[in-house]
Amino acid sequence: MLHYLFYLYLLTTTFLTTLIETIKIDHAGHQNDPHAQVREVLAYDKAFKAVIDFADSTEVETIIVSTSDHETGGASVALQVGESYPEYLWKPDVLLNATKSGEYVTRKLASYKASSKKDLYQFIKTEILEKDLGIHDYTEQDVLNIVAPGANPHNILNKLVSDRALIGWSTHGHSAVDVNIYGYSNTENGKSLLYKYLGGNRENTEIGRFWEAITGSDYNKITGLLEGTVHHTVSAQSLDGDAATELLGGFNEHDTLDPEYATFKAQVAEFGEHVEQLS
Ligand SMILES: [Zn+2]
Repeated sequence: MLHYLFYLYLLTTTFLTTLIETIKIDHAGHQNDPHAQVREVLAYDKAFKAVIDFADSTEVETIIVSTSDHETGGASVALQVGESYPEYLWKPDVLLNATKSGEYVTRKLASYKASSKKDLYQFIKTEILEKDLGIHDYTEQDVLNIVAPGANPHNILNKLVSDRALIGWSTHGHSAVDVNIYGYSNTENGKSLLYKYLGGNRENTEIGRFWEAITGSDYNKITGLLEGTVHHTVSAQSLDGDAATELLGGFNEHDTLDPEYATFKAQVAEFGEHVEQLS
């Protein structure tokens, strides 16, 4: 994909603006899933490096800005677990040991057809906790909590990893934490523009104003064109404006961005019913 974009870029004679998003950083934040989030960040870092390498390989003036429109989840390291005064540390190796995302293991759990409760508990211990999440110091109570009536196994599994990594979360939504802005250019002119417009502490709308300044585009006009446009994937394929708005009103943002996620939640609910029927 990146190669294709770069090719397009070289063919353009004026300006080409490209947006690259790794949406699962946000999803993992919503889910409070630290091990999925760190891998998504690393994948983004690789993509960012590919873009920098491209800039360094071309004569075309290239300006790169990397940022986020918000933080999600309120993740922080050095979580205090329990009453006693904490040590100043966190444990990233815990994230390394967890090799499947919380969503993946929850789907795996929810689709497992256990023959008995004993069988289910064993499956959770060996297949989920030990093999996928790299957790070996769990208790019998941890296992019971995952399948307790009304429990949310997805949250519980993610919390087992977060607590061990000493990572805390403040919300399942977006937070007001300041996000970083990273800039790069292959020219001195580009670098000084980045410092001038985006150096220091900035409002997020200033990033749009920056692109407006360097491309000569009209930010308000573009915003006007976008207003009222339905741009969720589900609706773009199957619905027009009004019908989409009506349908989307019944879901949260991320169910509509990722229709599979709604199926996932239904699958977890069915799993709860399955557990209740086990002897
Ligand atoms: Zn979000």
